[in-house]
Amino acid sequence: MFGALMTVFFIVAVLYLTYRRLSLISYTITFTVLLLAYSLIGAGAELWNGILWVALALLWLLNVRPLRKALISGPFMKTYRRLLPTMSNTEREALEAGTVWWDGELFTGNPDWSKLRTLPAPRLSAAEQQFLDGPCEELCRMLDDFDITHRRADMPPAVWQFLKANGFFAMIIPKRYGGLEFSAYAHSCVLVKLAGRSVTCASTVAVPNSLGPGELLLHYGTEEQKDHYLPRLARGEDVPCFALTGPRAGSDAASIPDTGVVCRGQWQGREVVGLKLNFSKRYITLAPIATVIGLAFRLYDPEGLVGEQSDRGITCALIPRDTAGVQIGRRHLPLNIPFQNGPIHGRDVFVPLDCIIGGPKMIGQGWRMLVEQLSVGRCISLPSNATGGAKAAVFATGAYARIRRQFNTPVGRFEGVEQVIARMAGLTYIADAARSVTIAAIDSGARPAVPAGILKYHVTEIGRRVANDAMDVQGGKGICLGPNNYLGRGYQSIPIAITVEGANILTRSLIIFGQGAIRCHPFVLREMTAARNHDHAQGVDDFDRALFAHVGFALSNAVRSLVMALTIARFGNAPNTGATRRYYQHIERFSASFAFATDIAMLTYGGYLKKKETISARLGDVLSAIYLASMVLKHYEDQGQPPEDLPVVEWACRELLYHAQEQLHSVLRNFPMRGVAVFMRLMIFPRGLTYFAPADRLGRKVADLVLNAGAPRDRLCQGVYRTVQPANPLGLLQAALELAPRAELIEKKIRVAGVKAGTVTALDLPGQIDQALAQNLISAEEGQFLRSFDGRVMDIINVDDFDSAELGHQP
Ligand SMILES: Cc1cc2nc3c(=O)[nH]c(=O)nc-3n(C[C@H](O)[C@H](O)[C@H](O)COP(=O)(O)OP(=O)(O)OC[C@H]3O[C@@H](n4cnc5c(N)ncnc54)[C@H](O)[C@@H]3O)c2cc1C
Repeated sequence: MFGALMTVFFIVAVLYLTYRRLSLISYTITFTVLLLAYSLIGAGAELWNGILWVALALLWLLNVRPLRKALISGPFMKTYRRLLPTMSNTEREALEAGTVWWDGELFTGNPDWSKLRTLPAPRLSAAEQQFLDGPCEELCRMLDDFDITHRRADMPPAVWQFLKANGFFAMIIPKRYGGLEFSAYAHSCVLVKLAGRSVTCASTVAVPNSLGPGELLLHYGTEEQKDHYLPRLARGEDVPCFALTGPRAGSDAASIPDTGVVCRGQWQGREVVGLKLNFSKRYITLAPIATVIGLAFRLYDPEGLVGEQSDRGITCALIPRDTAGVQIGRRHLPLNIPFQNGPIHGRDVFVPLDCIIGGPKMIGQGWRMLVEQLSVGRCISLPSNATGGAKAAVFATGAYARIRRQFNTPVGRFEGVEQVIARMAGLTYIADAARSVTIAAIDSGARPAVPAGILKYHVTEIGRRVANDAMDVQGGKGICLGPNNYLGRGYQSIPIAITVEGANILTRSLIIFGQGAIRCHPFVLREMTAARNHDHAQGVDDFDRALFAHVGFALSNAVRSLVMALTIARFGNAPNTGATRRYYQHIERFSASFAFATDIAMLTYGGYLKKKETISARLGDVLSAIYLASMVLKHYEDQGQPPEDLPVVEWACRELLYHAQEQLHSVLRNFPMRGVAVFMRLMIFPRGLTYFAPADRLGRKVADLVLNAGAPRDRLCQGVYRTVQPANPLGLLQAALELAPRAELIEKKIRVAGVKAGTVTALDLPGQIDQALAQNLISAEEGQFLRSFDGRVMDIINVDDFDSAELGHQP
């Protein structure tokens, strides 16, 4: 009995050592001491003791670096090199772009929460807040989305003028060039506000402030280029577009067949060395009205005029619209969201080498420039637009579901609808948290490449789910287009957000985990770099260090995963945050399980994992879920942990952690090597699936937060354009929502004292009010209030109708 007890104690102590992730030498020394004590007590059987002493001897041998380099790391590095995925320059540049931030912590299996929690909360400066309250508010007032989308298929000239004059296209341009020089957070808040009002306007504003001429010039342009273009862009005298995509190169953008051949030609009456460009681009936002085209093409120098190599790779240049040979101006019509978008073609367009962004020294650097800047832009434009759309949809749907009655009950009070509204609110909280916290990291200097993919994919998918839910809850009101419709165009625009800046299926399947596994993993990039080192001795030395640290890391994660699964993460290393502490612990547990599963998947598949998109996508889902849950917790802290918001925070964390569990489980179910899958299951889910999706009771509390006017609803929907004006249905909905509780009380009086008693028999509310007044069931003031409220509600729930002739051109 004593012996068995000591053996258990010994095993627990060894597991604890592994869990704590000691260095190899500390581990070996502690193991030695433990084993000596265990042997002195004489607890174990002979064979078992023998195995332990052999293990100890091996451990000591592993500490002799020259020996392990000669016997293990050196030979293994040769095999590893063969297993390495082939990587083109473009792929390598994409992998190396940006920085590693919280995503890297989640890959460790033991995230250091202080790194996230000490990040300053995002804040607007006084000037930024004034811009939101002033020009941005004024712009929202000017926008008539039905006029834009249905009648004009464009924004009116006054809106274009207002955008240019107020610097909406110059948010990222420094003040010294005449721009607004806003923080990334302010930039995002402007887009959030506009997106809820008009997707056409938000998309138009997003593009010049995102990846394109402005941003590329700022980072890579020559001083002459900056001095010439940036003030013109800031004043709106130049309108930019950026043309990468073509008919043959969409998702695989690096395969563009467009060319620029270095040659001599005439430019402004002089012979100069320049580029003869031939290209065919499509889907280019702002192209129809752009005055300066950012163009990506492959540069060739067959005559060796600028170097020795002929194929110099992807290069970016700025081409004035009126250059001979450029065909521009025709428009695409992206799903009736008529922001300016169209094709551009160029035939033998000659421009001087000065047109290359950054000048001739940046020849061949185009792809690197694009992927470097993409890590920031992808966190801002589409996530902000999608969050703005989701906020507006929740804001409108919460109010609508409260004032729209069926079966004598606000539709939002039916359990089925309540569940949908809870989902909308919870998902919107996730989107807003991810946007705010990640952008705060950008403002603190991060350029988070993997989170950019996570935000692009998940926040736009959240936008899609929320738009679908809003449409379901509001029924015909959402479907019938017209000046009074506030959902239809946002709903229509969803596939655009899903497709642009890296289509979502590709982003999920190939980018999030594919990039993360190499970029964020603490050892994989070090191993790959070491294995590719041409200095063999140095390569083996670096590889050896990385490999053994990696082995210890993987073993520790296996143990951490097992222990935290067995204890349901009760003893995780979480900060003391009160009611949310358990969620920090669960994230830590899934981080360890994810890190362990990642190592096993990479060990099993090697470079082939890149092609196993379903496994890669699911592992990416797990990473994304714990990343987003971390953002939710940090956002809650940034907002001062208001206790009323706790239900939505819990809903969001539960939903995400449940998803992490299910996706991890799906990885195991679909893992081809069944033996490995069984082992992984043992280490990850020794107690089965223990995590549950949010309960209905929690959903009810969450729905309540948006079905009632108040601070939690205001915080969740912060940024929505809610000014009460006749042409702003969202403002009118809010005003009606604020009156709803009183109206409901008066209606209840009529129902109880009149309808149930059989004295009030009218079939509609105005008739019932008349009868209730006649029978003194309610006061005159109450009657007037209820009549006015009913009038407001009917105005809101009414939809537009048209004369046939108004609805289309007869052939
Ligand atoms: C409205 C609009 C505005 C745009 N604005 C611009 C602009 O201003 N400038 C610009 O240069 N481009 C712009 N684009 C182009 C946009 O970035 C591309 O549409 C996008 O890259 C996808 O290309 P594609 O539409 O040709 O789809 P495809 O590349 O044909 O992809 C089709 C499907 O296959 C999936 N897929 C492809 N490869 C893989 C893979 N390896 N694994 C898994 N799935 C994969 C994709 O996810 C997608 O679902 C715009 C597009 C639209 C629609």
